[in-house]
Amino acid sequence: MADRIHILYIGNDPGEQQLLEEMLREALGDGLLMTWIDNFNEALWPLETSYYDLVFLDYHLDGRDTIELLRRSASSEGRSMPVVMLADNEDHLDDLEVIRQGAADYLSKQELSVSILKRSVRYAIERKKIEQRLLTLSHYDPLTGLANRNLFYLKLTDGIIQTLRGNQLLALFFLDLDHFKEINDTLGHPSGDRLLQEVSTRLKKATRASDTVARLGGDEFAIIATHLGTEDDITLLAKKLITSFNEPFNLGGTQVTTHTSIGIALCPVHGHDPDELLRHADLALYQAKAAGRNNFKFYDSELDARAQEYRALEQEMRHALHHRDFSLHYQPMFSSDGKQVIGVEALVRWFHKVRGMIAPGDFIPLAESSGLILPLGEQVLEMVCDQINQWQQMGMPEMLVAVNLSPTQFSDPDLVEKIIHILEEKGVSPQRIELEITENTLMETGPEVIERLTRLHDLGIKLAIDDFGTGYSSLSYLKKFPVHKLKIDRAFVKDVTTDQDDATIARSIIHLGQAMNLEIIAEGVETEDQLNFLRNEGCQQVQGFLFAKPMGADTLAKWLPQRHSSPPGHQASA
Ligand code: C2E
Ligand code: CA
Ligand code: CA
Repeated sequence: MADRIHILYIGNDPGEQQLLEEMLREALGDGLLMTWIDNFNEALWPLETSYYDLVFLDYHLDGRDTIELLRRSASSEGRSMPVVMLADNEDHLDDLEVIRQGAADYLSKQELSVSILKRSVRYAIERKKIEQRLLTLSHYDPLTGLANRNLFYLKLTDGIIQTLRGNQLLALFFLDLDHFKEINDTLGHPSGDRLLQEVSTRLKKATRASDTVARLGGDEFAIIATHLGTEDDITLLAKKLITSFNEPFNLGGTQVTTHTSIGIALCPVHGHDPDELLRHADLALYQAKAAGRNNFKFYDSELDARAQEYRALEQEMRHALHHRDFSLHYQPMFSSDGKQVIGVEALVRWFHKVRGMIAPGDFIPLAESSGLILPLGEQVLEMVCDQINQWQQMGMPEMLVAVNLSPTQFSDPDLVEKIIHILEEKGVSPQRIELEITENTLMETGPEVIERLTRLHDLGIKLAIDDFGTGYSSLSYLKKFPVHKLKIDRAFVKDVTTDQDDATIARSIIHLGQAMNLEIIAEGVETEDQLNFLRNEGCQQVQGFLFAKPMGADTLAKWLPQRHSSPPGHQASA
C-alpha cells in the first residue's frame, strides 16, 4: 500500500465522518490524509477533476441519493477513482447495481469495523490499479508508448465534436515512413523497432502536448491537431514534421536516414466523421507518395474520384489477365529504303467488353504502379512466342519480334529466369526476340542492370534502347551496356524537318550510333520529308504510320506478301 493515502469522504454527518476517520487511522496508520466534502454540488467538481486514492461516498446526501455522483466519478476517462459506497441497512440498496454503476465496493455502516475497512481499502485500491493497467494496455502502443488505434479513435471522435462546437479546424495527419520495409529487412527487426521509437520521439517533439500522436500499426502514425486557426498553421506543422526527419536516426551506432510522407484531412472541410476523415487522410497519403515521397498532400476530392476510377480499372485488369483478354498488334520495322521488313514490334491491346479497345497508354502506367505489369509482361511474351510458332507453321519468313519491357519488369530480379522459362517452354529461339528498354529505365536502375542485360545478351536476345534522346545518356554511360540498337524517340522525329533543335538531336543520335557501331531506328515516321531527312543523315531503319500502322496478326499475314509490290508510303490499315 502507498506511503500516503489520500481519501475523500463525501457525506454530511459529522459523527459518521469522525468515526470513519478514527477507524481508517487505526487501519492505515499515519499515512492517512483525509478530505471531507459535505455537500452534493461541491462534490461534483472534485470527482471529475481531482485525484484521490479512494473515495467514501455516503448513499444519502442533501436529501437525495448519490448514484449520480458515482457515475460522474466513473465517466472521467482515464483518471477514475475507486469509490466505496456507504449505506444504511434500511436503504435496502441493491449492491450489485451499485457495483455496476462503477463502485469498487459497498459497505453497510452498521457493520463497519477496522478490519473490514482495511480489507475494503486495500481491495479497492488494488482493483483500481489493475483497471488502470488494463486501460493502459488497451490504449497505448507498448513499443512506442504512443496512443494506439483505440485511444486514437476516441480522441478523434472527441476532437471532432469539440471542433464542430468551436468553429475551429482539426487536422488529421496520416504518416508512414518511406521504405521502412527495406530498413527492417536489411537491419533486422530490433533496429526497426528502435527506429519506430526514435521516430515517435521526434513526432512528439514536433507537436504540442495537446495534440495526439498515435501509432496505428507497423510504420503508420497519425497525429490529431486541434484548435488550429487556418490552413497555414497546418502547412507549417506538416513542414515541421517533414523536416524533423532531416537528421539521420542513430540506431545503436548505425546511422539510418528515412523520410516520411504525410496525408492530411481537415475537419470540417473534408468531413465530420472519424471514418471519413481517416479514409481521406489515407488517400491523401497515397497521393503524397505517388508524388515522390518525403512530402505532404491535403485531401483533394478530385484526386479521390480519379483514385477510385483507378482502383476499379485495376480490378478489371486483374479480371482481364485472368481471362486473357489482352492481345497483340504488330507494327513492322523497315530498312530505310522501305524495301525490307526487318521485324515487327509487339504492342499490347486490351479489348474491354464495355469500353472497347483500350490503348496501352491508358493502362500500362496503372499496370506499372500496381505491379500487374509483371503478369501482363509474361502474357505478352507468351503470346509473342505462340505467334512466332504460328507464323513458322504458316511458312512465313523469319522476323525479329521486338517486345517492350517497362521499368518495373526490368527491376524484377526474376526477369531473366522468367524469359528463359517462357522461351524454352514455347521452343522459341532467343535470336528471334528483341527487347526494348527505355533509356530512363537504364538511367534509374542500379548496377545489377548491367549484369541482367549481359545475361540476356549472352542468351542471344537483342537489346534496343527505346525512346532514345529523352534521358540524356552520355556516350560513356551507353558503352557500359551490351546494347545493339538505339530507337530515336518519336518526339524528335515529329518536328525533325521544322525544328532546328530536334534536327540536331536526331542527327547526333544517328552519328553517335554509327560511331558506336549500333543500329539506329527512327520511330513515328509519318511523312516523306521526315524519311528523307533521316535517310540523308544515315539512319538505317524506320518505323511509323508512313509505312505501316500496328495491325493484328491475321492482317499482318495478309499484308506482308502483297506489300513487296507497293511503294514505300503505302499504308496498311490497323
Ligand atoms: P512505344 O514503345 O514507344 O510504342 C510506339 C507507339 O507509337 C505505339 O503506340 C505505336 O502505335 C505508336 N506509333 C507507331 N508509329 C507511329 C506514328 O507514325 N505516329 C504516331 N503518332 N504514333 C505511332 P501504342 O501501341 O499505343 O503504345 C504506346 C506505348 O505503350 C508504347 O510506346 C510502350 O511504351 C507501351 N507498350 C505497348 N505495348 C507494351 C507491352 O507489351 N509491354 C510494355 N511494357 N509496354 C507496352
Ligand atoms: Ca517500343
Ligand atoms: Ca518508343
